[in-house]
Amino acid sequence: DLLVVGSANADLVIGVQRRPAAGETVLGSDLATHPGGKGANQAVAAARLGARTALLARVGDDAHGRLLLEAQRAAGVDPAGVLVGGAPTGVALITVDPSGDNSIVVSPGANGRLTPEDARAAAGLIGSARVVSAQLEVPLETVVEAVRHLAEGSRFVLNPSPPRELPQELLAACDPLIVNEHEAKVILGGDEAGDDPEDWARALLARGPRSVVVTLGAEGALVASADGAVRVPSVKVDAVDTTGAGDAFTAALAWRLGAGASLAEAAAYAARVGAVAVTRRGAQESYPTADEVEAV
Ligand code: ADP
Repeated sequence: DLLVVGSANADLVIGVQRRPAAGETVLGSDLATHPGGKGANQAVAAARLGARTALLARVGDDAHGRLLLEAQRAAGVDPAGVLVGGAPTGVALITVDPSGDNSIVVSPGANGRLTPEDARAAAGLIGSARVVSAQLEVPLETVVEAVRHLAEGSRFVLNPSPPRELPQELLAACDPLIVNEHEAKVILGGDEAGDDPEDWARALLARGPRSVVVTLGAEGALVASADGAVRVPSVKVDAVDTTGAGDAFTAALAWRLGAGASLAEAAAYAARVGAVAVTRRGAQESYPTADEVEAV
């Protein structure tokens, strides 16, 4: 039902007293290795909620790739679309200091080798999905190619992260385009942006997507289409770690849209999923089941 097209990374995390300056060596905590990457996160989030989910991604023929595949399988994702080889698995090297500030180096690795050719070869997988959800941690041309193979009547959801200028063909396919404040401002370009999320949504809609969702952290989200704009409240929770909350939100929204929900209904459900995710540490480890969402 849901196909996620996107990245899979191993997040390598070390706690430090102080992040190192140029030329400096610091000692840190034991290494923690977590499955991550926006595509892999979304697929796990959807599958954990009960969605029939597949992932089109590329990992290396290495231990990190096997870790990521195992995390997908354990969550119930169909791993048939995960391609193996071509480069080492993508890695995020993360140092975190006691105040929670971090420094991150990302090596896209195999994510950068998910080619338009790979998307063409997966045309069957793409064409059989009711909803396809993508982000931009894989080459933009690959996402554009994937969109060309959508089935009639299916739906395409894009979280343009990391944000960059988007071609018209891609914008026109989005229903919705899902952005946070930072992504909205980058895509709109500085001067046009202003401070009001309703203005961002209007300006983004004018670029061609059929609908737009602006996520606003603890403030919830804003849903906008030709029919107008609706605020979706957040659920009041004690947030401990917002890592991967946006990915859980997007995955939940995509799944509910595929099940026939309206955009506002899907966003309200997604806000509850995001709220649970921020009450727990980690990304994939923090994602709730449908029963846990019902309990909020
Ligand atoms: P991103 O991680 O992409 O910046 P947000 O931080 O806006 O995305 O979070 C995505 C969604 O998760 C929000 O729209 C909201 O529904 C939920 N969420 C995030 N932070 C909180 C919070 N502190 N309290 C409740 N819900 C939250």
